[in-house]
Amino acid sequence: MNNPRRRNFLRALALGTTTFSLAAESAQAGQMPGRPLSADLGSEASGPTSIMAIAAHPGDAFFAMGAPVALQVHLGGQGVFLSLSLGEKGSSTIAPAEYGSLQRQSAERAAKALAARAEFLNYLDGEIPESDDVAFAVCDLIRQYKPAIIVTHWRGSWHKDHRACYHIVGDAVFYAGLPAVQRKQPAHTVERLFFAENWEDTEGFAAETYLDITPVFDQWLEACAAFPMWRGETGFRYNDYYRSLAIGRGCLSGFTYAVALMSPPEQLTRHVHAL
Ligand SMILES: [Zn+2]
Repeated sequence: MNNPRRRNFLRALALGTTTFSLAAESAQAGQMPGRPLSADLGSEASGPTSIMAIAAHPGDAFFAMGAPVALQVHLGGQGVFLSLSLGEKGSSTIAPAEYGSLQRQSAERAAKALAARAEFLNYLDGEIPESDDVAFAVCDLIRQYKPAIIVTHWRGSWHKDHRACYHIVGDAVFYAGLPAVQRKQPAHTVERLFFAENWEDTEGFAAETYLDITPVFDQWLEACAAFPMWRGETGFRYNDYYRSLAIGRGCLSGFTYAVALMSPPEQLTRHVHAL
């Protein structure tokens, strides 16, 4: 393991953090159906892994969750961006119908630039229902695309759509993994669930996974630029924030550029025979 990645890992350990790639690992015997796997994580990628970003709005999907998707595609995996709404009410100058169309076009362009897919569920911006109907709609897309990894919102958000997305995704992952839940597609167990660092979801967010996004940093920023709001046209300087956040997280983790992610507590449970 005398390679740069190993050296980065050791350097990160010295900084008191754990760093690793989003790695697909085999399912464990005895895993509860519908529950993301609880397993020890290695420091090395184990090969191409499919990933799905599930966000309330297209901007969240690409700005806060896009770099991990870009990286998995770069490693040979498949990436899907799912937006529960078009974020059509996000402009103070453009009417929702027109702005929603612009948002959809931007997301499709950005996904294409990252060699990923864009999916939309078209719930009303600001009114995403936190219901089983929505969870089953997300479940169906999880079963269709079979991602090993899902990245979504952390619940500590002032935005009601973001909080709803957190809960919807948790329920959707549960339903997707239950063989007894009969849908068109067979059950699929998501191996890893991560919460993204988002300027609107900061309450209680605790970074514990630092992902090296250096290989895809430029490509990710170019993809984000498909959105007018990336340049600050809706009032928040997304470009400056997320670009500098990747630099700052890189400083903390020993990588040039990084994103910080958070795992559900049970995903961090370790199974060891000795300490
Ligand atoms: Zn949002």
